[in-house]
Amino acid sequence: MIPIPSDAVIVGAGPAGLFQVFQLGLQEIHAHVIDSLPHAGGQCSTLYPDKPIYDIPALPVCTGRELTTRLLAQIKPFKPTFHLDQEVIQVEKLANGHFEVTTSAGQIFLTRTLFIAGGVGSFQARELQVEGIAQFRGTQLHYGVHDTAAQQLVIVGGEAAALDFAITQCEKNVTTSITLLHRRDHFQAPPATLDRITQLRLTQRLQMVVGQITGFAQSRDRLTALRITAPQGDTQQLPLDTLHAFLGLSPKLGPIAQWGLNLDKKQVQVDTEKFQTNIPGIFAVGDINTYPGKKRLITCAFHEATLAAFACATHIHADLAAPLQYTTTSKKLQRLLGLT
Ligand SMILES: Cc1cc2nc3c(=O)[nH]c(=O)nc-3n(C[C@H](O)[C@H](O)[C@H](O)COP(=O)(O)OP(=O)(O)OC[C@H]3O[C@@H](n4cnc5c(N)ncnc54)[C@H](O)[C@@H]3O)c2cc1C
Repeated sequence: MIPIPSDAVIVGAGPAGLFQVFQLGLQEIHAHVIDSLPHAGGQCSTLYPDKPIYDIPALPVCTGRELTTRLLAQIKPFKPTFHLDQEVIQVEKLANGHFEVTTSAGQIFLTRTLFIAGGVGSFQARELQVEGIAQFRGTQLHYGVHDTAAQQLVIVGGEAAALDFAITQCEKNVTTSITLLHRRDHFQAPPATLDRITQLRLTQRLQMVVGQITGFAQSRDRLTALRITAPQGDTQQLPLDTLHAFLGLSPKLGPIAQWGLNLDKKQVQVDTEKFQTNIPGIFAVGDINTYPGKKRLITCAFHEATLAAFACATHIHADLAAPLQYTTTSKKLQRLLGLT
């Protein structure tokens, strides 16, 4: 693959990474955004897509998914280039002060600045521990929220993400049979979610099976049924065409720890003027960074991204301070936003 030259590469397409695109755009800096997930939104779209957020300035309420959609709309004028489904595995500083960034897909970026917006690390779904079942991943077995055209759907998990997905699928009313499978008949979710699940079970729109997957049946290369073992030890066959598992995500700081950055308890240390790391030209914003008083909140990430973008402009333009302009009145910013 041909290396991609760039002024800015952002590792992570969560809210911090997305707003970083916006702030860099106002500084006339185009960004490439890389995420190990197949979609943007980070924790918001992965851990709580349908839950309300109440503390985004000027947005009294929005869900994780909605916030992601709005951020993507806001950064559209700056035409960021997304490289999804690939993890940044290596960062090396070059003799000219630029950085060589390599992803798990083999793509190399040669960039003048790097923004680490890696949140709590790259998300890895906890996998089902059932021998051989991994062969169906991506076809009939999915981890987390994923569009589905299933007719016989089994959803595994006992937390809010599994329950929210079950509710959404029941309400879409296109799947013939939906079964929620959990090792016990007890769930961890907000009361409103639990109430809705109870209603759906009472109307038999949603079936419940208590037990664990201990095997499966297949016909040629198709998964056709799960063997479920109940807590008392008896087994049953559960037919299905699609399996969605919500066993949680384990964020792994992963390769970020190897890039020569000063860390404090797996967080990247930054200053609070530029949100720059110990390596000039590498910034860190959002949940991944740490500094005195750090709060892991989206609104704090937005502030960090704003100051980091100003610092990036100064870094790229040989220490010329980037002037402060208002989007309300600046013709230049309005042109960049595609308004004039
Ligand atoms: C259930 C829940 C509810 C919450 N509610 C609120 C709330 O109401 N208000 C609020 O302010 N905050 C809330 N938060 C916290 C908020 O979601 C986080 O502060 C926010 O998501 C941090 O954004 P981020 O972009 O820094 O990181 P993330 O959202 O974690 O995104 C980081 C992205 O970087 C990617 N990544 C990491 N390493 C790599 C790599 N090496 N290569 C490629 N990609 C990589 C990850 O895959 C991920 O997509 C909540 C969190 C949870 C779990």
